[in-house]
Parts: sequence; structure tokens; C-alpha cells
Amino acid sequence: MSVVGELPIVWDEAYEADIGVHVFPTRKYRAIRDRLLNEGTISEDSIRRPQPAADEQIALVHTAGYLSKMTEGRFSRQDELLLELPYSNQLKQAMWLCAGGSILTGRLALERGLAAHLGGGFHHAFPDHGEGFCLINDVAVALRVLRADGSIERAAVFDCDLHQGNGTAAIFSEEPEVYTFSIHQQNNYPMWKPPSDRDLGLADGIGDTEYLRLLREYLPSILEDHRPDLVFYLAGADPYREDQLGRLELSLDGLRERDESVLEMCAARQVPVAIALAGGYALRFEDTVEIHCNTVRAAVKQFELLGN
Ligand SMILES: [Zn+2]
Repeated sequence: MSVVGELPIVWDEAYEADIGVHVFPTRKYRAIRDRLLNEGTISEDSIRRPQPAADEQIALVHTAGYLSKMTEGRFSRQDELLLELPYSNQLKQAMWLCAGGSILTGRLALERGLAAHLGGGFHHAFPDHGEGFCLINDVAVALRVLRADGSIERAAVFDCDLHQGNGTAAIFSEEPEVYTFSIHQQNNYPMWKPPSDRDLGLADGIGDTEYLRLLREYLPSILEDHRPDLVFYLAGADPYREDQLGRLELSLDGLRERDESVLEMCAARQVPVAIALAGGYALRFEDTVEIHCNTVRAAVKQFELLGN
């Protein structure tokens, strides 16, 4: 891997789909990018705009029936209730672009050792339906594309979102080359949790110390035993103690330490990492933005240690 210059960042303004008044703040993507640019953590030159994923790439994960439903916009009230989002062509385009963004982030991570997507991590999307704010599973699409073209053989998903990665677990359940790890609040959505290769379902109220201890206990052996060519890290902001959708008790500092630990453990074993942001619904919008910015700040530091 070559490691020259700045941490590659993937982002596009069109991620900000209009979903009306909603707990999911799609404006966070632009706000994160703006804050990181304004403080000088990233530069305009480091930001890459993705192409939308091709339908054939989406079809590596999603069924033909679901694809045509999305393309033709045939979403019933029931489908929208499950998705928990209003379907629109703008949303569809944002998610195709976001899947393209995760593919690009994966490729940049392989080239440069580390790359960050200011978006993505829609881990509740299944092959035949979307749910929980997730229309298509961008990370699964990226991994299938990279496996299909021979860029990687083996991969791991480190899903540190508050919610269990049910769609990702189901998609890769019979694909031993892709190891799925999810650490999440057990007593929360999704009700039905198809098994990941390793699930750590946490009791309500778990805080920084126990969370970090568990990551440090489990992740090294996954890296060493599974030997992934690439890790996709879902750095969800929603394990935060002031999140509206969760009851884990991580602090801002604890979440930053989580990011640093994951990146350090991968770097110590020379495993490239592609970062996706995933969820974040803090009471104060500013906190969600700050948690995601901290992930990128940790990545910039780690990228410099890789030899930049
Ligand atoms: Zn979540």
C-alpha cells in the first residue's frame, strides 16, 4: 500500500436527502465536512466525489425484485413503515451514490491503508427489503464488488453502531470470507437479530470502560484468526450517552478512544481500514457532528502514523 499525502475522504452534497422532519439528521454529512474543512483537519483536495453504484453492483447484494421496486419507486405504505423513511427518487439517488462512495472508500483504503467515508453504514438493509432508515446496504455492496473483481479475498466488518447489524449479518451468513462483528445494545432495535459471526449484545447502561475492554478483548483475535484483507469499520455515533435512540452510556472521550483503538489494532496488523459513519441521533445535533468529526480526526492521526 502506498501512503503519501492526506487521508482520503469520500463525500458528496447529494447525501443530504430531504426526508422531512426526522430523527435521522441527513444534514450531518455536510456539517461534518464543513467542520473538518474549517478547522483544517481535511482539505478540499482530499475530498473525492463518488460515482453512483451501477445497478449490477447493487444486484450483487439485493434481489432483482427489490431492485425493480426501488427503481420504479413502488414503495407501499408498509414498505415505508419498515424503512422508517419516506421513499423518494432523491433518496434512491442519494443511496446509490452512497453505495458508490463505500466502494470508492474501500478501494482508497486498499491503496492508501486508510480512508474515511463521510456517509454510509446502512447496515439494516437486507437483500430483499430496506428497514430502519437503510434502503441499501452500501458496505455489503462495496465488499461484494471488491471480492468479485479480485481486489480482496477476505474482509471483516467491525460494526460499532448502537444497533445490531442485522442486514449485514444476514447477507454474509453463508460467506465465510466476510467476518461480521457487531457490538450493540441488546435490548433495542432490531428485535430479530440474525447472528453475526460474533455478536456482543450489551446490557443497558454499559459505559466507556467495559465497552473498550470488550473491543480490546475480541478484535485482535478476529484480525489474527480471520486475516482480513480489508476491514470496514462502522463508527456509529449512537452508543453516546445522550443519544435519543439508545441506552448505552459512552462519553465523547470514550467514543474517540473507541475509534483510536479500532484503528490502532488494525494498523498494528497492517490491515487496511475503510471507515463508514453509520448512525447518530444525539439530543444535541452538534454532539453527533462532533463524534463523527472525532472519528475522522483519529483517522487523520492514524494515517500520519502509517508513514504520512
Ligand atoms: Zn444505529
